Amino acid sequence: MTVLTIDLDALAGNYRIVAARAAPVPVAGVVKADGYGLGAAIVAQTLAQVGCDTFFVAVTSEAVALRPLLAAEARLFVLNGVAPGDEHALIAADAIPVLNSTGDVARWRTAAAEVGRTLKAAVQVDSGMSRLGLSDGEVAALADDPNALAGIEVVLVMSHLACGDAPDDPANSAQRARFAALADRLPPAPRSLGNSGGVFLGPDFHGDLVRPGIALYGAAPQEGRDNPMRPVIALDARIVQWRTVPAGTGVGYGLTSVADHDRRIATLSIGYADGWPRALSNVGAAYIGGVRAPIAGRVSMDSLCIDVSDVPAELLATATHAELIGPHQTIDTVAAQAGTIAYEILTQLGRRYARRILPVTGERNGACVS
Ligand SMILES: *Cc1c(COP(=O)(O)O)cnc(C)c1O
Repeated sequence: MTVLTIDLDALAGNYRIVAARAAPVPVAGVVKADGYGLGAAIVAQTLAQVGCDTFFVAVTSEAVALRPLLAAEARLFVLNGVAPGDEHALIAADAIPVLNSTGDVARWRTAAAEVGRTLKAAVQVDSGMSRLGLSDGEVAALADDPNALAGIEVVLVMSHLACGDAPDDPANSAQRARFAALADRLPPAPRSLGNSGGVFLGPDFHGDLVRPGIALYGAAPQEGRDNPMRPVIALDARIVQWRTVPAGTGVGYGLTSVADHDRRIATLSIGYADGWPRALSNVGAAYIGGVRAPIAGRVSMDSLCIDVSDVPAELLATATHAELIGPHQTIDTVAAQAGTIAYEILTQLGRRYARRILPVTGERNGACVS
């Protein structure tokens, strides 16, 4: 079978690397989209083992699924706020919504009144990304209305960087300044700004809590800089069969790959239904025994072909798998070739793989927060 290897020791190690960078500021784990495709349960439990006690998911259903797997005292934030009708599910999951709009604030205030107790929330402000969070005017209105946050305990004030992965972009310092000014008008609470990129922008972007996602999963947190993270996943596709085709023979749908010489073509058990981008048709490669084998023809739903002409015959005779993500090409490389980002490669990882989980082996209590 095609095998997705998930190295939990590398995941734990990456948390420690980020924790060392952020220290003494604590590090939350962003585990939305099923832990960036790796599995929110194993990811959250691994992060908890190395000292993580605060988690972020995107939507209510993710919080409902994750809560039973977390320690009772772990904090679980829901980034996309209070979807209408989700109030009671959020309360039952002991989840803390991120209030992004005046609608969110009103729904959570009403829910608090209904249940007759104070409910915790984070408040997000828009510091320049124009995606989620209260605008300047909405923050002003909130600050001027003593009842707006009745029954709501603000435990975090946050915002999100649009360009955290671009260390030289002046938008970062502009957002930091605007965030500080907006947060000053809200009830006093710990502040959080930096995502993975923000962690590596330095302490000015750490606030009181950092929220890395992608760096924990091994992708480069910043463009154009060396990647300090350990790779967390490897993907090895099963070789279904191979054949020799004469010069002039087309390969795959549309016969888009034709060569003027004889070639050996191998077929791998992976396709776009497994999240291997169709944009990689005739682009990129797999590796067999470290030998590059270019993708030949279009990526199909369940299979793709590679040109294994350069792979020595004796190697090909015994090879069972071809590396698609691993020592010879990272998720960042594959993403760039497909015209996308590592986030999309990870979150689209398919459900048909054998998932091989490598356990945490390193020192268990070294959360490196000193
Ligand atoms: C997804 C997300 C993060 C994590 O971002 P990475 O770039 O993966 O580190 C942090 N904060 C918010 C609000 C997010 O949406």
